Amino acid sequence: MRPVLADVHAAAKVIAGVADATPLVPSPHMSAVCGHDFLLKLENMQPIGAFKLRGALNAVAGVREAAGVTCCSTGNHGRGVAYAARERGIRAVICMSELVPQAKVDGIRALGAEVCIIGRSQDDAQAEAERLVREEGLTEISPFDDPLVIAGQGTIGLEIMAARPDTEVLLVPLSGGGLAAGVAMAAKAIKPSIRVVGISMDRGAAMHESLRAGRPVEVEEVASLADSLGGGIGMQNRLSFPMCRDLLDEVVLVTEDDIYHAMQVLYYEDRIVAEGACVVGLAAVLSGKVSVTGPAATIITGRNLDMEMFTRVITGQDVKLGDMVIEGKRYGT
Ligand SMILES: *Cc1c(COP(=O)(O)O)cnc(C)c1O
Repeated sequence: MRPVLADVHAAAKVIAGVADATPLVPSPHMSAVCGHDFLLKLENMQPIGAFKLRGALNAVAGVREAAGVTCCSTGNHGRGVAYAARERGIRAVICMSELVPQAKVDGIRALGAEVCIIGRSQDDAQAEAERLVREEGLTEISPFDDPLVIAGQGTIGLEIMAARPDTEVLLVPLSGGGLAAGVAMAAKAIKPSIRVVGISMDRGAAMHESLRAGRPVEVEEVASLADSLGGGIGMQNRLSFPMCRDLLDEVVLVTEDDIYHAMQVLYYEDRIVAEGACVVGLAAVLSGKVSVTGPAATIITGRNLDMEMFTRVITGQDVKLGDMVIEGKRYGT
């Protein structure tokens, strides 16, 4: 059941020409900070603006039923599934609650998917996806706990190791763990000595709490600059939890202040617009929570962010997150 390197090679063939070959570029500023080459894998350049297209394409290609696919993600996974289904000419139904902002609904519709708006919570949307599976024969695609999704995300590890076999440290943003599981599995199969560090925000880090408890646990979801890293790992988690447990050398947590500063660094030093979730690798190094002992790479996972919030961060204004306020600070002051 657990995907292996051969599955990642197979996934690479499936996604070729659509979701592969993103640039791997050095960050001169971060390289100077580390004293070693520090590379950025630019998944923000994907057609949907995030790496999740890799896993979604591979999972959609593996669906045998012609009925179509469903999921209940309103974020990058929903976009990936919508795009992949259109690419393969099959039906996609993305379920979401009434509370989801219109901009997100429109974004998914623009990618050609049917949007099913139901109930007032994520649980209602999940129940509808399950009904579509039972009654209409659709296949539900998990954002992280699926062998084809994990193998698809693993192609990032394959590409980094092919381009830079001298890489010694991989810094991987961590939420449900599909990305970290796939990348760590592929990279370690190629180079067993590589160190793979998962990084989450310090509030609501479900995988970190679960690894500490030794089993999947629920955490309270709180607002974060790294909103793509929120959410649970699923109490019935079968794959991404045990793979992260066995393959990650370490999990590191960064604060909202660390993320705020790292977003400014990536913007002003590398001129890249990216989500808070992407900069946790930079944040971990800049805050001294991870030390880098050789050539390192991190994954700039996506660019689908709220531009109003982004503008506040790069202009050094305060940012309100639920009941927390991040105090603004202009870059370089
Ligand atoms: C989904 C996502 C992640 C985390 O991936 P997991 O497989 O859930 O750990 C990180 N960054 C972005 C932008 C994402 O959309």
